[in-house]
Amino acid sequence: MSLSERAARTRALERAATVAAACRKCRIGYTRSNNVYGEGDPCARLMVVGEGPGETEDLLGRPFVGRAGQLLDQMLAAINLPREDVYICNTVKCRPTLVEGDKLRNRAPDPSEMTNCRPFLDEQIEIIAPKVILALGAPAAKSFLGPQFTITKQRGTWFAGPNGSALMATFHPAYVLRQTGNSMIGVKRDVWTDLKAVREKLRQPTELAAEAQQTFLFGDE
Ligand code: SF4
Repeated sequence: MSLSERAARTRALERAATVAAACRKCRIGYTRSNNVYGEGDPCARLMVVGEGPGETEDLLGRPFVGRAGQLLDQMLAAINLPREDVYICNTVKCRPTLVEGDKLRNRAPDPSEMTNCRPFLDEQIEIIAPKVILALGAPAAKSFLGPQFTITKQRGTWFAGPNGSALMATFHPAYVLRQTGNSMIGVKRDVWTDLKAVREKLRQPTELAAEAQQTFLFGDE
């Protein structure tokens, strides 16, 4: 990837983040502390997509920085991918909340919020053009694959993702952290299997690379 291409992508993402920061299309656009657009390598081959920012992410304006974020970092490190080499974002850029007593609680984004915010996610995918998209949790997976998607049955399966990407879903790190005992071991084992498949997919030469190799070996025919 040339430096100018990297710089162009960085500028495009910065411009898009500025637009998202001013967006008030949903009610949660008024209750958020920060718009959590996304962060990471603009030329990442892996894009990780969660459902929406939680309390810590909302306060810091960064995706996956709470306890679940720490586990995500460990998951990525397990397949030799430092967080800085990946692009991380969510299906919605503002924290979905509900009021319980005198407290604001996290909640899953509702369908209208996901629809409203989808152009920002599509734009990120178009700019970054990741080879692989890893959706974390059922809501993120359903935003790509439709409401019939079942995380317990279909996680770890490859699907055709947007913009020519390969798409897989696995359990959300927050879900992993909610498990205990044997249940946690079982869920972690499933996630590890999925991560190994992601690592393998990233290792496979892209079609472009395969084409370049063909041209290098045999010339233009
Ligand atoms: S969630 Fe997305 S569409 Fe809704 S207000 Fe926030 S940035 Fe705008």
